[in-house]
Parts: sequence; C-alpha cells; structure tokens
Amino acid sequence: MYPKPFDYVMPATLDEAIQKLQQDKAMALAGGSGLVPAMSLGRAAPALLVDLRQLADLAGLAPRPEGGWRIGALTTYATLATSQTLQENYPALAEAIQGLSDPAVRNRATLGGALAEAHPASDVAAAVLALKATLQVRGPAGARAIPAAEFFTGPGQTALKAAEIIYAVDLPAAGKASAYEKFKNPASGYALCGVAVCLEKAGGKIVGAQVALTGAADYPQRLADVEAALVGQVPTAARVSVAAAQIGAARLNFVTDLAASAAYRAHLAEVLVKRALARVA
Ligand SMILES: Cc1cc2nc3c(=O)[nH]c(=O)nc-3n(C[C@H](O)[C@H](O)[C@H](O)COP(=O)(O)OP(=O)(O)OC[C@H]3O[C@@H](n4cnc5c(N)ncnc54)[C@H](O)[C@@H]3O)c2cc1C
Repeated sequence: MYPKPFDYVMPATLDEAIQKLQQDKAMALAGGSGLVPAMSLGRAAPALLVDLRQLADLAGLAPRPEGGWRIGALTTYATLATSQTLQENYPALAEAIQGLSDPAVRNRATLGGALAEAHPASDVAAAVLALKATLQVRGPAGARAIPAAEFFTGPGQTALKAAEIIYAVDLPAAGKASAYEKFKNPASGYALCGVAVCLEKAGGKIVGAQVALTGAADYPQRLADVEAALVGQVPTAARVSVAAAQIGAARLNFVTDLAASAAYRAHLAEVLVKRALARVA
C-alpha cells in the first residue's frame, strides 16, 4: 500500500513545530520507523507531517545540574545503545535498547518517538517507568513535566495532549542498580514479556523499588504489589521470590494472542521479575 497524499514541513524551532502541529490532522515525524510503515499500511493518514529532525537541540545526552541526566527526545537508539553514560548509570535503559530490532531501526528510531508511540510491548517504556523518568513536553499551553508513571494511560494511549511534543526525558540520579529482562517473540523480536527493575538500598535493606512490565499486559505499567513487597525488606532470594509472586495476575489485563496465552505471559512475568531482581538485589 502507499500512504495517502500529505503535506510536509521541517520547522527550524520547537515553537514553529508546535504551531504547525495545531493544523488539522498534523502529526510529528521523528525517526519515522513507526509512523512511516503505519502510513503505508493505512493505519495513519496525516494531512501534514511535521518533521522534527532539524531541531538539533533535541538530540543528545547532558548531565542535569540537580543530578541525573537529560536525554533529548530526538536521540536515536543507535546513540543510546553505545552510550557509556547509559551503560554505567542506567543499565535498564541500555539493555532495553541493545536487544531491540536491527541496526536499520536503531539508526532511525528515537527515544521520544518510541515513548509517544506507546507500543504495548515497548522495551524503553518499561525502562523509563522503572527508572522513574520524567518526560518534558511542550505544547500550545506551554511546558509541563509528566512522570513516566502517569504517561502511559492505556493501550497505545498516552497523557500527551494535542500538538504537544516530548522534547526531553529526564532521568534521576539513582539508576545504577537497574536491569531489563526480555523474552522475545521469535518472529517479531518484540517482547512477549519484558521486565525492568530499579532498586535503591540503604543499610542492607531496600528503600525504593520500581518494577515495570511491558509486552505481557495491555500496556506498559508498574507492578505496585511487587514493589510494595520489596520495600523495607532485606533483598534475599527468598524475598525476591515472594515479591515476584505478587505480579497481580488477577488485576492485570494479560494478553492472549497467536504468540502466547495470557497465562503463559503471566508466568513469564514472574520469572523475569525474579531474574531481573536477582541481578540487582
Ligand atoms: C522492524 C521494527 C522492529 C521493531 N522492534 C521493536 C522492538 O523489539 N521493541 C520495541 O520497543 N520497539 C520496536 N520497534 C518500534 C520502534 O522502537 C518504534 O517504532 C520507534 O522507536 C519509533 O520512534 P521514531 O523516532 O521512529 O518515531 P516515529 O515513527 O517518527 O513516530 C512515532 C509516533 O510518535 C510521534 N512522535 C514522534 N516523536 C515525537 C515527539 N518527540 N513528541 C511527540 N510525538 C512524537 C509521531 O507523531 C508518531 O505518532 C520496531 C520497529 C520496527 C520498524
């Protein structure tokens, strides 16, 4: 199939991009690795493509004065996959990207594009949830910060409002004790189940825990009951097993499709939570 006819602009500033995005059926274009195939398949039919790639300020990593790092929304997976900063400070995000797709996709796909796309099996979605990232967005009403935990609101849905652009993703200082575990669909390479974890420890006990799931349920989300079973505890193998058993299969909407049943995905979730926690506990 071919895309429906559309207009195309490449704004020089973020303000201009926001203004263009207020036109009827306008859509942002970043790497195009998700949007262009969607247009070819008729799943997206923008009347205007607003190409963000000239906004050079939106690419790259920089330390934040208050601690942690800021990643520009246009930073590609290829850049992130080879980033020493990411590998040393945020292993969960580095691992989520390293195992993802092929060089052609990694050279084009951007962090902001992936988060805005909000694929139910997005690897980076789980990582930013576990790392307690904050998405910085700007739109017609100005700038606002959206905690990752509030960003994914349903299958393919986000908290982004019309004409809002993600311009950066902020990561807090604590992220070293993090990991990502993925069980791939052998056909597509997407996660049948992916789990990202991040722990903070003090005095031999867990004082902060974020555990996030992707691919297995209807959208990427944190596992509050697993987290609650970890905080205040000594991170032993037995405690990790008890916590992993709290994935809340009854409360989560695990997916059944051609690739796997909901019951199998729930089983994978528990196994991967244990594996990821064992690496950081
Ligand atoms: C062959 C293939 C295999 C893949 N495998 C995996 C996989 O294993 N795991 C995985 O997680 N993903 C996978 N992906 C998905 C890929 O990671 C995403 O499609 C990609 O990251 C989207 O980023 P992009 O920059 O190309 O966004 P685009 O395709 O340009 O845009 C995607 C969507 O986000 C919007 N958008 C883009 N940038 C912004 C912004 N800054 N602010 C607001 N809205 C914006 C666009 O309007 C569009 O709706 C795969 C994709 C392909 C093509």
